[in-house]
Amino acid sequence: MDFEIRVNDRPVPDREREAILAEPGFGRIFTDHMVTARWDEGLGWHDGRLEPYGPISLDPSASVFHYGQECFEGMKAYRQDGGGVALFRPRVNAARFNRSAERLAMPGIPEATFLRALELLVTQDAAWVPAGAGESLYLRPLMIATQHELGFTLPSRSYLFVVFASPATAYFGPGERLRPLTVWLSEDYTRAAPGGTGAAKAGGNYAAAFAAQRQGVAEGCDQVVWLDAAEHTWVEEMGGMNIFFVLDEGGGSRPRIVTPPLTDTLLPGVTRDSLLRLAPELGLDAEERPMSVPQWQELCASGRMTEAFACGTAAVIAPIGRVKGAGGKGWTIGDGEPGPVTRRLREELLGIQYGRLPDPHAWVHKV
Ligand code: PMP
Repeated sequence: MDFEIRVNDRPVPDREREAILAEPGFGRIFTDHMVTARWDEGLGWHDGRLEPYGPISLDPSASVFHYGQECFEGMKAYRQDGGGVALFRPRVNAARFNRSAERLAMPGIPEATFLRALELLVTQDAAWVPAGAGESLYLRPLMIATQHELGFTLPSRSYLFVVFASPATAYFGPGERLRPLTVWLSEDYTRAAPGGTGAAKAGGNYAAAFAAQRQGVAEGCDQVVWLDAAEHTWVEEMGGMNIFFVLDEGGGSRPRIVTPPLTDTLLPGVTRDSLLRLAPELGLDAEERPMSVPQWQELCASGRMTEAFACGTAAVIAPIGRVKGAGGKGWTIGDGEPGPVTRRLREELLGIQYGRLPDPHAWVHKV
């Protein structure tokens, strides 16, 4: 499918855009264009276009409003040190988007079409990619069910795909400042159950998480840590990030980063996968293994767990300083401050993403 190009003849004036880019925030301002495409049963993907960013008109009967058939992605375009703009591992996002779509009985989109949509948008709105430290253009591909019909025995027979973009600072605090997070162990709520949609990037997962996030914030925390559905004992992931623990047994052994294994109840993060691959190259052991809440607390008490951090596209890597849970439960990880392994991994990943360091895995996708 080819995309028709309809350039916005009323873009944000240069001076205004530059003022926005001086302090972009996160996800509040959107660029001049978006890409859309439609899918209909029997027709497949059609009517792809790059067009001015703006509202979408839908009937109240569109099935996304009733049954939540929706999936999305989150990725970034980075201004490269050597000039130009690049995406990071966009094929992995394309594959995850299609796995999410499949879980929600939605049509897949060819990888080439997904990439083309991103490239068109980033090229057209390249002036919107901020240049400050830790800044980027956040890209949001999504798909919604658009059929005008309330019957729900079968999935929608029509869909809309959209990609739009928003200039972004680092998610937690401006610039390179690393503020340790306090996290809330959610025992009252469950994010995902075996056989459910936890491994899909489905809007409904996030809707179902807000009540827990609100509870966490009321308890003075930044983010929720989700536990397994059956026992509320095993750590799975965070609201919008995966989680890593750093174990340092001393005695000359290498520090080890540990993250829960992938199951159908947690999102397989691109950042998570990248860190598991980078760790051995940085002299760290990397392991996927389950971690229970009592083990987590005990490893911190004995001093063997020195650091923990959250990772994801938006936040990159955010250190975790403290854990809190129901009944006054709580403990500090290490000295509560960002540790050397967290910092080292963050520097390495950012270095690759911004083209400052060699890219041996060919993760950087120039646009
Ligand atoms: N878990 C959840 C629930 C998320 O929403 C995200 C963000 N996509 C992640 C983990 C991290 O994934 P990624 O590294 O691909 O951004």
